[in-house]
Amino acid sequence: MFCAGILGQRGHRVLLLDHAETLGEKIRISGGGRCNFTNRDCGPEHFLSLGHGFAASAIRRYPPSRFIELIRRYRIAFHEKHRGQLFCDDSSKQIVDMLVAECAAGSVTLQHPVQVMGVEKSAQAWQLNTSSGQHIASALILATGGLPVPAIGATAFALDLARSLDIPVVAPRPGLVPLAFTSETVSGLDELAGVSLPVMMRAGVSGQRYGDALFQEDLLITHKGLSGPAVLQASSYWQEGEAIEIDWSNGFAWDERFAEGRIGGRYAEAALADVLPGRLAKVLAQQSSVPERKWAEIGKRDRERLRQWVTSWRVKPAGTLGWKKAEVMVGGIDTSALDANSMMVKSHPGLYCIGECVDVTGHLGGHNFQWAWASAYACATSLVGSGQKRS
Ligand SMILES: Cc1cc2nc3c(=O)[nH]c(=O)nc-3n(C[C@H](O)[C@H](O)[C@H](O)COP(=O)(O)OP(=O)(O)OC[C@H]3O[C@@H](n4cnc5c(N)ncnc54)[C@H](O)[C@@H]3O)c2cc1C
Repeated sequence: MFCAGILGQRGHRVLLLDHAETLGEKIRISGGGRCNFTNRDCGPEHFLSLGHGFAASAIRRYPPSRFIELIRRYRIAFHEKHRGQLFCDDSSKQIVDMLVAECAAGSVTLQHPVQVMGVEKSAQAWQLNTSSGQHIASALILATGGLPVPAIGATAFALDLARSLDIPVVAPRPGLVPLAFTSETVSGLDELAGVSLPVMMRAGVSGQRYGDALFQEDLLITHKGLSGPAVLQASSYWQEGEAIEIDWSNGFAWDERFAEGRIGGRYAEAALADVLPGRLAKVLAQQSSVPERKWAEIGKRDRERLRQWVTSWRVKPAGTLGWKKAEVMVGGIDTSALDANSMMVKSHPGLYCIGECVDVTGHLGGHNFQWAWASAYACATSLVGSGQKRS
C-alpha cells in the first residue's frame, strides 16, 4: 500500500491486488494493537540478511524520520515506548487508514479479496490471471509478506513464484518467536512459569549464516518454554540443534557480589535470591547441588559450577512455537538476486520484491515495518525515476 501510494501520486497507474478481505491485517494486530511503526534508532545493524548490509542503502534513503513526517502529516499521535520504539497512542488502524488514504490520493485501484492464479511473463509485460480477470502490467511488485500467522492470510506466494522463476530463496524459518523446551531438554522449567527478569542472552554462531548476537532484554518463562523480548530477539539467530546461552545475572560482577567475606555465612540459595527471583534462585541452586550448603562450605569446583549455571546457562531448545506465534520470517528471496537500489530482480526486469518476502529480517522494535517502508520507497522511486511505462 505504501509503495502503491507513492507510485500513484507520481502519475503511475497502479492496481493493488490482495487476497484478504481486509487490507493491512498484520498492521492491525501489530504492537499489541498500537503498531510499533518504526524505530528512531533504526540502522543496518538491526537487520539479519545473508546479503550483509543489503538493507543499508534503502534505510539511508528512507530513514525513520521520513515515516515520522508522514505520521505527523496525518496527525496520528504517537509515543516512544522503549529504546526508540514508536507506537500509535490510539490504534494501529490509524496506520492502515493512512495507507489507504495515500493510495486514494494516488488514485490506486484496490481490489480485494482477489485470488492470483497465475503469473506469466511476456516480452515486455507481466500477465496476471486472477479471480478479477486478467491484468497486464509493465512492472509487477511482490509485497506479499512472510509466512507468520497464516490465519490472517500469510502465504508463500512470493517464495513460490520466485522459485518457479529460478530466483534463489533462502529457506524460511520463524523469527521473533518463543522457544520451546521439553522436560527432556530442561528439567525444572515448569515450576518457573511466570518468572520474568532481565537477562543477557546469546544465540547463533559467529561467522556462520546470520552470525551470532547478544541481547540484554527481559525474559519470561512460560509453561511451554521461554518468551519475552530477549528470547524473541535471540530466536531469529537460533537454528535447530544449536544451544542458546543465558546469563541470568544480567551481567553483574559475580566475583565481587559473591566474595567470601560478604556472603560466607549465608546459604547459596538465599544469596542467589538477593539478585534473582526466588523461584529461579532455588532451581539454579538445586540443579548445581548446592542449596543446603553455606557459601563458605562450598568447594571451589561447585562454586565454579554454580557460577556457570547462573552466568552462562547453555541449553538446546527443542524448537520454536512456529509460524502461528512468529512475528516475522527469517529468510526469503535471496538479496543476491535483487538490485539494492530498486529492489528489482536482476534476472527479471520489471519484477520487484519488497518487504518481508525478501531475506531481510529486522530486530524486534519497529525495524520490520521500517524495512517495509524503506524497501517500498526504494522500489517506487526507482520506477518513477526510470521513466518505465506507467502501469
Ligand atoms: C503479531 C505480529 C506483530 C507484529 N508487530 C510488529 C511491530 O509492532 N513492528 C514491526 O516493525 N513489525 C511487526 N510485525 C512484523 C510486520 O507486521 C511485518 O514485517 C510487516 O507487516 C511486513 O510487511 P509486508 O508488506 O512485507 O507484508 P504484510 O504486511 O504481511 O502484507 C502482505 C499482504 O499480502 C497479502 N497476501 C499474502 N499472500 C497473498 C496471495 N497469495 N495473494 C494475494 N495477496 C496475498 C496479505 O493478505 C497481506 O495483506 C509483527 C508481526 C506479527 C505477526
